[in-house]
Amino acid sequence: MTQSLKGRSVVVTGGSKGIGKGIARVFALSGAKVAIVARHPDQAEAAAAEIGHGAFGVVGDVTALASIESALAVAAARNGRIDVLCANAGIFPQARLEDMTSQQWDEVVDTNLKGTFHAVKAAVPYLKTSDQGRIVLTSSITGPITGFPGWSHYGATKAGQLGFMRTACIELAKYSITINAVMPGNIVTEGLAGLGEDYQKTMAASIPLKRLGTVEDIGYAALYFASKEAGYVTGQTIIVDGGQILPESLEALA
Ligand code: NAP
Repeated sequence: MTQSLKGRSVVVTGGSKGIGKGIARVFALSGAKVAIVARHPDQAEAAAAEIGHGAFGVVGDVTALASIESALAVAAARNGRIDVLCANAGIFPQARLEDMTSQQWDEVVDTNLKGTFHAVKAAVPYLKTSDQGRIVLTSSITGPITGFPGWSHYGATKAGQLGFMRTACIELAKYSITINAVMPGNIVTEGLAGLGEDYQKTMAASIPLKRLGTVEDIGYAALYFASKEAGYVTGQTIIVDGGQILPESLEALA
């Protein structure tokens, strides 16, 4: 495993649960100083206490620029700087197109897409002063590659993150800041558990590796993008999905 995250200051938005908590744990075990940002401070602090290794919780809401700016200011004050932003906070409520309200659309876009912009914008002033400035986005296979009923708004935000990244990558290159995205398949998280056991069973059956992913599977991909060794990789994506996007039909899985 890379040693280059040792002592680095890392902020993980949405780090109190699920994939974000997995990312936070993997970075903390790699010697990074991790700040976990979420709207519920009690849950952020509980996750930090569980992870240990000096991790701490900070309250912040990515839908409001001022809120994420103050969260990052707290993280920077506590750790002395910020080297890595993992912009992971996201929601995935389901609503079919014909039933979807503008409010439901806005809620998902404000959190997943505008929230990514807010977190990146707030982090750049700190990352500019780092010699290993890194941004890692949590996108998805849903949207950029696949579709699923009820997730047209969600898929639009996850594809939108990649469009955002491709221009941000060029603008941030002059500061030697890299920005890349992990595209998870179906990962066992608190959020996914809410979709029910049937969803999880059907999904596992459609995945060549025959299991859902773990949050650590995503954490290690994020760790690579954040490492010193990935310093020449920017504007790129990695799919971590157990092969889910590959079968052409159910027969392909037989
Ligand atoms: P989760 O278990 O529901 O956790 C979501 C996290 O985001 C929590 O820490 C939550 O804390 C935080 N959060 C939500 N809204 C926020 C806001 N406005 N500001 C700051 N933090 C906020 O979700 P997950 O399954 O781990 O998903 C995490 C990311 O992975 C999302 O971007 C999602 O799109 C992506 N993803 C997940 C899967 C999957 O299979 N699970 C697959 C592909 C991609 P608070 O509620 O306290 O704010």
